[in-house]
Amino acid sequence: MGLEEKLPSGVLLTSVEKLVNWTRKSSFWPATFGLACCAIEMMATGAGRYDLARFGMEVFRASPRQADLMIVAGRVSQKMAPVLRQIYDQMPEPRWVLAMGVCASSGGMFNNYAIVQGVDHVVPVDMYLPGCPPRPEMLMDAILKLHYKIQHEPLGPKREKALARAREDGTAP
Ligand code: SF4
Repeated sequence: MGLEEKLPSGVLLTSVEKLVNWTRKSSFWPATFGLACCAIEMMATGAGRYDLARFGMEVFRASPRQADLMIVAGRVSQKMAPVLRQIYDQMPEPRWVLAMGVCASSGGMFNNYAIVQGVDHVVPVDMYLPGCPPRPEMLMDAILKLHYKIQHEPLGPKREKALARAREDGTAP
């Protein structure tokens, strides 16, 4: 009798999925990328007092090629938008985006022609974090929520299908 027949259907794939997602969420490397005042709180989160390294985020990477998380920390000017998109495009899959603060999430108080009214006009966003600026505890909370999301994401074509479905439902960018 083959192994597949002995095990309940899908049990192997489910375990692989869990393992892969666990490794992904446990070694999350953010790109070094700060746009405005929110970046100060992001830097504080990475420093000794809050110690982001506890969650497997040892280093902020200076190269997008080595990063899988983009924390958009601050308002995005129209001039910066193509640069931000280019950095996103240089990050390898799978990659995630966290919009930190009200400016990155929706433009915030900068409701004018110079500022992009939400970074989701430029890149798909996986997690929105309100606040002006959000405190380091809030950023860590958002990151842990993103960990939870990643842990429960399907892999491969199933992931693509789930993303497409979420886009149709309007629950994803
Ligand atoms: Fe600055 Fe507040 Fe905007 Fe963050 S949300 S970039 S702290 S104005």
